[in-house]
Amino acid sequence: MTHFFRPSVAAMTGYTPGEQPRPGTRVIKLNTNENPYPPSPAAMEVLRSLDSEWLRRYPTPYADDFRQAIGEVLAVPLDWIIVGNGSDELLSVIIRACTESGRSLVYPTPTYVLYRTLAAAQPADVIEIPYSNDYHLPIEKLVAARGAVTFIASPNSPSAHGVPLRDLRKLASQLTGVLVIDEAYVDFANETALPLVQEFENVIIVRTLSKGYSLAGLRLGFGIANPKLLSGLLKVKDSYNVDAIACLVGAAAMRDQAYKNKCVAKVKASRTKLALELKQLGFQVWDSQTNFLLVQPPQSNAEAIYLELKEHGILVRYFNQPGLDDKLRITVGTDEQNQILIEALLQCLTVRCSGSR
Ligand SMILES: *Cc1c(COP(=O)(O)O)cnc(C)c1O
Repeated sequence: MTHFFRPSVAAMTGYTPGEQPRPGTRVIKLNTNENPYPPSPAAMEVLRSLDSEWLRRYPTPYADDFRQAIGEVLAVPLDWIIVGNGSDELLSVIIRACTESGRSLVYPTPTYVLYRTLAAAQPADVIEIPYSNDYHLPIEKLVAARGAVTFIASPNSPSAHGVPLRDLRKLASQLTGVLVIDEAYVDFANETALPLVQEFENVIIVRTLSKGYSLAGLRLGFGIANPKLLSGLLKVKDSYNVDAIACLVGAAAMRDQAYKNKCVAKVKASRTKLALELKQLGFQVWDSQTNFLLVQPPQSNAEAIYLELKEHGILVRYFNQPGLDDKLRITVGTDEQNQILIEALLQCLTVRCSGSR
């Protein structure tokens, strides 16, 4: 059926998301970096009390209630905010607005695998610049690639490292195209690059409610940039890209910073504990500014461990690609979930998965 499609689409592999069993299935889900705690009670209350009138009518085109809440919490004017159906949609909108054949998308690798898929769908040329082993930002090579758009996930996935603000500032000052800083994991990090949007007209910060706010199912993300940069993006987004429910529930979640901060603090404490326990089992564990850990098992049998954990009803992420196929990405769960993981790993390392591939 490939003749149905544009050649670029026919040639695409498509994004492979992490497994998503139905809620209620008895699994410990540590594979897609969801928050293990429920969303804000204030947000759930808004959801329960929603009047049918909100569903009968079209939503506001720019998700005004949600923008209002962001504006209050982050002290940014509303015309500096764009809202998306998940931050993935905003990444897609940026690519649609800025790239095509000859106007490249540039990013350092390894990073969020979806970037490549979005570029292939456009289609846009992609220039991938490998990180060094210590994940130092390759600023000169990124600048030399002259992208229409440069994506930097900071903190990055699956490496879990945060890119220092001074490096992002240096990159922003040297790029001629748009610099997108994907801050999906910023709630778990030590630093934000938000100040850069005031310093540079070509910088957009993209964030999501999926990780820090426990709202991955709601599909809500936002971008912050100079209105001049947003003007082009607003032209190409769907007219009603964010539904009324997401807008209202998201506004309540955003205003409940105390609850979000409490959940994030718990995840960070569990992250420290889990990292230590994995190290004691002989894993190499990379420093994390996120809600997950990148780890390398003591014998390079990452795939065998991934499969064995799955048998035990524990899902973690395995990437079958060079440079990552000897590692696992494990979302930080509750202390109880992490303990079950550690016990399963202990068993796995001592009895079954002991042979390396
Ligand atoms: C999870 C994630 C996103 C996607 O966020 P959504 O708002 O759920 O679409 C974007 N970028 C990175 C790096 C992520 O890990």
